[in-house]
Amino acid sequence: MCIFCKIVEGEIPSNKILENDEFIAFHDLYPKAPIHILVIPKQHVDCFQDVSAQTMAAMTPFIQELATLTGIDKSGYRLIVNNGDDGGQEVHHLHFHVLGGAKLPFGHLVDEPHKSL
Ligand code: 5GP
Ligand code: ZN
Repeated sequence: MCIFCKIVEGEIPSNKILENDEFIAFHDLYPKAPIHILVIPKQHVDCFQDVSAQTMAAMTPFIQELATLTGIDKSGYRLIVNNGDDGGQEVHHLHFHVLGGAKLPFGHLVDEPHKSL
């Protein structure tokens, strides 16, 4: 069982903020912003590339509600999904990073010429 499935099952403790039948939002253990929350589907999905449109449709209002609950709906926030190796995904259970509470830098990305596709 993956680490986030263990959080879903309560085998690993987490600091939950919002939960419904399908999703959980909990604080990231190593926050990269004043607000750094992870949103996961309870049902295991490896990555964004594998998630269904149905799950994503349901996740949208969940994240919007989370933003309102945490007061970042007006101040703004950033959603990040790391997908696969090049995306830097470390935990292979789909999760959205919800980051906010400060003006977020965008400096870790470098200028690169586009690859021709
Ligand atoms: P990724 O790099 O896969 O997009 O992000 C994984 C995230 O999960 C990281 O930000 C990391 O800090 C967080 N994380 C890893 N293990 C745990 C854990 O056991 N509990 C919580 N709350 N967050 C975790
Ligand atoms: Zn899992």
